[in-house]
Amino acid sequence: MKNNILNLLEIQGYKVESVEEAKDQKLIVKVRKKKGYKNTCPACGGLKVSCHARGKYRLKKHSHFQEKLIYLKIKRDRLICLKCKKVFSEELPNIKRYSRVSNNFVKQSLNYLSKNSFNEVATVNAVSYQSLKTNLYDNVDPFKLLDEKIKLLSELEEIYLGLDGQSFRGLDMVLTITEVKLRELLTILPSECQADLNRFLKRLSPEIRAKVKGISMDMTNKHHRLLKANFPNALIVIDHYHVISCAIMHLQKVRTTLQQAKKIAIPIKKELDKNKEYLTENDKDKMIKYFKLFPELFEAYQTKERVRALYKMTDYNEAKKEMKAIILMLKNSKEDELKELGRTMIHWKQEILNYFKCRITNAYTEGLHTKCKLIKRKSFGFRNVETYVRKLILGLLPFAMIWNYTHFST
Ligand SMILES: [Zn+2]
Repeated sequence: MKNNILNLLEIQGYKVESVEEAKDQKLIVKVRKKKGYKNTCPACGGLKVSCHARGKYRLKKHSHFQEKLIYLKIKRDRLICLKCKKVFSEELPNIKRYSRVSNNFVKQSLNYLSKNSFNEVATVNAVSYQSLKTNLYDNVDPFKLLDEKIKLLSELEEIYLGLDGQSFRGLDMVLTITEVKLRELLTILPSECQADLNRFLKRLSPEIRAKVKGISMDMTNKHHRLLKANFPNALIVIDHYHVISCAIMHLQKVRTTLQQAKKIAIPIKKELDKNKEYLTENDKDKMIKYFKLFPELFEAYQTKERVRALYKMTDYNEAKKEMKAIILMLKNSKEDELKELGRTMIHWKQEILNYFKCRITNAYTEGLHTKCKLIKRKSFGFRNVETYVRKLILGLLPFAMIWNYTHFST
């Protein structure tokens, strides 16, 4: 019976002396350390120690089970080293010195926090926000790749990374890093700034860095040089979806600018966004009407469709030729918005074309951002970006992977 309790409570290093129910839904399990558990002197490493002073019994929060909080009632003696006479407090299995909770309690709280808000966990487990936050920071480090992730990457012949920013609050962005072919989250950095990215990259082994063959990102990324320096064998690829989005954005700007200048409504936003092959006869009639009035709108629309068609090509050289033609057409355009699109395409020309050498996209990375929004909403927002990214990582990676890394990694 008592062995069952030990296993159930995961306190195999202890012996149960008694179990009593206290008020306020508390269950108190009085335990004693098993004899086999040896203490060594922290100063000299000596194995011969003896009791210097008996400790007092204290309660350590251990578990939340069936609406009850289970406490371990335990004492920690002061020991003395027989060799160097150093006095120190005894070490107990699974309870850190000075801690009022057991490791198991931290594990349970974090596991619960991986699926619930800070508020929820704090209420149910009767802990403060501050100690939950400390537990989270102790166990999740966004700048370090977990062992299991390193193992995964090491087993790959070629690695393809995805980098994508997502908004935290207003203009503050966090940076998600994934392996796009394996569809694995690697980490989420608390900002898009170079220092943070560098801090993460510096910890990647040269073997892993050399295997990175492609990096998918969008046109807002400013870390071109840093990435080139860290990943000498990688092609930087602008996600094709972003190139098309960029063309659509400029097309819509042409429309809104015309609306304002000519003081006339041009209500074909949806139709312009649509892919050509999905347009109905009705859509087409509507569009032709406005295209006749505004040839620059037609020009912008054609550009968008031409950029889309570019991505149907399969041959690199063919794509390169078409890209050149598109850029030339944009350069010669009289429309400012199209000129601007032309400049963007010139700036990223090689990275856009790299897609035809290395067909990777950031769809997986962006898919993760939907999950992140859900976590954010469940938690009623976050004030601190450092806490936010740690909570995201905790929620998105398997909990055992995170816990084992901190507690059993060598
Ligand atoms: Zn000693």
